[in-house]
Amino acid sequence: MIDFHCHLDLYPKPDEVIARASKAGIYVLSVTTTPKAFPGTKRLAAGQKRIRTALGLHPQLAHERHTELGLFDLMLPETNYVGEIGLDGSAPFKKHMNIQTRVFRHILNSCQAADGRTLSIHSRGAAGRVLDALEEFPGSGLAILHWFSGSMKELERAVAIGCWFSVGPAMTSSAAGRERVESMPQDRVLLETDGPFAMQGGKSMEPIHASRAIGVLADAWNFSIPETKNQLRSNLKNLGTRPQSFCQE
Ligand code: MN
Repeated sequence: MIDFHCHLDLYPKPDEVIARASKAGIYVLSVTTTPKAFPGTKRLAAGQKRIRTALGLHPQLAHERHTELGLFDLMLPETNYVGEIGLDGSAPFKKHMNIQTRVFRHILNSCQAADGRTLSIHSRGAAGRVLDALEEFPGSGLAILHWFSGSMKELERAVAIGCWFSVGPAMTSSAAGRERVESMPQDRVLLETDGPFAMQGGKSMEPIHASRAIGVLADAWNFSIPETKNQLRSNLKNLGTRPQSFCQE
């Protein structure tokens, strides 16, 4: 299966998490929160054929790490994947919205200049602003909104501009999350965990737990479990990423 948004570098024992994911044959998008963390996080995945490492600058760190944008631009040619990036309008981070927006627009502009990337995007409390920025840089790539919690109207707008979504057990455990999942086009949905931040039963989730969201997707789509897995597999295959697709099997 798939975990399209996981912070492998932030687990106490990343090698053990990777070994379990590898044994289960799971494809992982390993996102990073600062450009400085990218080289070390990429090394964690050395020799792992199902893990791709994304270059990111998390919106909650933008006010402290905007000085790493030069490093971001230097390393962008090394990867087809960018994340975690985006905007966070929740109470503790709202006051940094100006610098967050400057960082996010800089990154989208760099991705657009580099012919686009596959983007894993955070939009908590700022879905409308995220969509404004994506519309401003239409060549920035394929935007995958992770753990989408915007309004139903914002969801419709995201669908209309071509966004994809990554959905996990944490999101599908709430009624609001399930309502959003039901309105997502089924050919634009991937699984995620957002581990180790996202927890279930008091424990951090890891890639092997992404499949806990499959039952909710099956209900939303009126599919059997095997049909749901097939749909998710084919979505991963269809993810248009240059120069090669995420999933080569
Ligand atoms: Mn995350």
